[in-house]
Amino acid sequence: MDIASLTIDRIHEGLRRRAFSAAELAQAALAFAERENPRTNAYLHFAPERALAAAQRVDRQLAAGEPPGKLAGVPIAVKDVIVTQGLRTTCGSRLLANYVPPYDATAVERLEAAGGVMIGKANCDEFAMGSSNENSAFGPVRNPVAPDRVPGGSSGGSAAVVAQGTAVVSLGSDTGGSIRQPASFCGVVGVTPTYGRVSRYGLVAFASSLDHIGPFGRNVKDAATLLEVIAGRDERDATSAFAPVPDYTASLGESVRGMKIGLPKEYFTGLASETGDLMHAAVAQLEKLGCQVREISLPATGYAIACYYIICTAEASSNLARYDGVRYTYRSPGAQTLLDMYRQTRGEGFGAECKRRIMLGTYVLSAGYYDAYYLKAQKVRTLIARDFQNAFGEVDAIVAPVSPSPAFKIGEKIDDPLEMYLSDIYTITGDLAGIPCMSVPCGRTAEGLPVGMQILCNHFQEETMFKLAAAYESARGF
Ligand code: GLN
Repeated sequence: MDIASLTIDRIHEGLRRRAFSAAELAQAALAFAERENPRTNAYLHFAPERALAAAQRVDRQLAAGEPPGKLAGVPIAVKDVIVTQGLRTTCGSRLLANYVPPYDATAVERLEAAGGVMIGKANCDEFAMGSSNENSAFGPVRNPVAPDRVPGGSSGGSAAVVAQGTAVVSLGSDTGGSIRQPASFCGVVGVTPTYGRVSRYGLVAFASSLDHIGPFGRNVKDAATLLEVIAGRDERDATSAFAPVPDYTASLGESVRGMKIGLPKEYFTGLASETGDLMHAAVAQLEKLGCQVREISLPATGYAIACYYIICTAEASSNLARYDGVRYTYRSPGAQTLLDMYRQTRGEGFGAECKRRIMLGTYVLSAGYYDAYYLKAQKVRTLIARDFQNAFGEVDAIVAPVSPSPAFKIGEKIDDPLEMYLSDIYTITGDLAGIPCMSVPCGRTAEGLPVGMQILCNHFQEETMFKLAAAYESARGF
């Protein structure tokens, strides 16, 4: 069985034909993942017992003739910022190196209820802060396509395992691009659903008004299937939406002739030349499919980075206050007083990027600066969201690059946080507006580095987004 090329459909066919059992597949997938992991460091830990138990449940259902679920037998990796009962969840942080949560995230509960087999937890930037996976306390992840390069971040491990083929699909989280950008860098599909589409219960909070859980897959259909399973209202997350979850795979394969597509002119400046060329080729392909493509403008784009890094740091500074040495696991051993315990625990536990964000966030929320920074950023956020609403009055979908350039070298940007922040320019706007967006592979550079095309649609229009992505995927010819 060639695990690296499996898809959900192929697994279901294999189970049906009894070419393998779910338990056999789980064991083979785990062995393969453990063998490959030293190359990438994409998994932080594995879950062999839990995976086998889940697979055996599927085998029992199959033997009894019961419907086994949409993800029956599918090996899945979960980003280590999503909590798993009885299984270490570190958030890529020293502070939580030994944290074993007492409950499962809703998304994890749902994927297992659908027969999914979670084989392990994926490496990521500490508390999902970063664009390269270099901020993990447990070492960087290498891009499976080019091992001297980053896989992107913060869901670098989740993208890498799918690109490497050690998981068929995975869960990541996206606050400012952390699903789409690594998907683009690793050459896989990554989806950021509408804000509220997937419950955040059990997603360790970075910036709560921006955080999303979303799927990775090697093709559009697999990602859409995983989203369908995890989406929907959850009583335990008040921000989760009541809107019914459509059958996302039903409209895949439908024609996109006549679909109106906008290319935001602000997103096509400052691209690396090969990224620009690949984007233009992708747009030409969409025109061949009968889409009506035209230029549009999203005028507030220039303020997006400043706006995002004020709002996300403000929320992060508040969310990370809970890691105080009293709750959760790590406590500095040397402290003599309560204040020293707080200071030393946080000083030793958090990495440099988290500290930078806590300080920035505390500053923008402080009494003298709240109006000047935080409140202003909230107003700008409204302008950015309004730009999209205006655009969606005229077009069905927006197509744009994901990142200005393909995967960069490990170490290339890590000493220049501002440079790193600037590379998020095309992804953070979607999160600020709360709209669904995704990255779909659109080719490789001469050096073989993958590049993704971004598709953005209006709130809860995931079906349109998937339909366009699938049409492009089947037409692009690789
Ligand atoms: N790169 C962005 C940041 O560092 C996005 C991270 C994310 O989406 N979690 O904030």
